[in-house]
Amino acid sequence: MALLEVSGVTVAFGGNRALDDVGMSAEQGRITGLIGPNGAGKSTLFDVVSGLRRPSSGRVRLGGREVTRLGPARRSRHGLARTFQRLELFGRLSVRDNLLVAAELGPERRQAERCVARIIDQLGLAEVSDSPADTLPTGVGRLVEVGRALAVRPTLLLLDEPAAGQDGDETERFATLLRSLADDGMAVVLVEHDMGLVMSVCDEVHVLDLGKVIAVGPPEVIRNDETVLAAYLGD
Ligand code: ADP
Ligand code: MG
Repeated sequence: MALLEVSGVTVAFGGNRALDDVGMSAEQGRITGLIGPNGAGKSTLFDVVSGLRRPSSGRVRLGGREVTRLGPARRSRHGLARTFQRLELFGRLSVRDNLLVAAELGPERRQAERCVARIIDQLGLAEVSDSPADTLPTGVGRLVEVGRALAVRPTLLLLDEPAAGQDGDETERFATLLRSLADDGMAVVLVEHDMGLVMSVCDEVHVLDLGKVIAVGPPEVIRNDETVLAAYLGD
């Protein structure tokens, strides 16, 4: 059974359908890619899944339980965590404190310090752990944002362009991290423009264009799909 199931989701902004009858799913232990040109609806779909935007129709199920009407806090208690395309860190707080704030909301709040120490180690953030978040290069800030999501011990992790601003080495280390999270049983959904990263780490890729799912399949199939190529070329 899929950990996340989205079906028939429609969201309109005025006359513009940002999402039109969208379905997708994500499974434990797998990395699901969500790609598509700018404006395709990827971030809006994350908003719907995380409870920040109510769809005009459709359903969201987490672990078989319908959560369509639950707010973001309740969904986070059901194991969902996300990052934002635009960084949402506390700029003046240190990296460690940004993570602590999140860990104290999670199921390990009594061992928040230990949980944070483990994430700092896992993400290779030891050298910057005392630095204020707003002094970090974007690529590192994105890792902190991922760390903050991990601090609530999610079963479903939604990542919105986490590798934007990372250099090649950082992206390679990030790919290894994603693989290990999935190997530990997490369901990961990755929105990302770096096609090299998407095609190398994802088990399955969903493609959105103009609010509709236009293709679903393994990376090697999606990479050669003519409909997908046409969407990216602005056909
Ligand atoms: P993506 O993340 O794939 O680039 P978005 O989900 O951000 O796409 O946007 C999908 C569509 O919805 C775009 O046409 C965008 O302009 C529109 N949109 C997104 N958020 C809003 C909003 N708050 N108000 C009006 N239109 C929006
Ligand atoms: Mg987006």
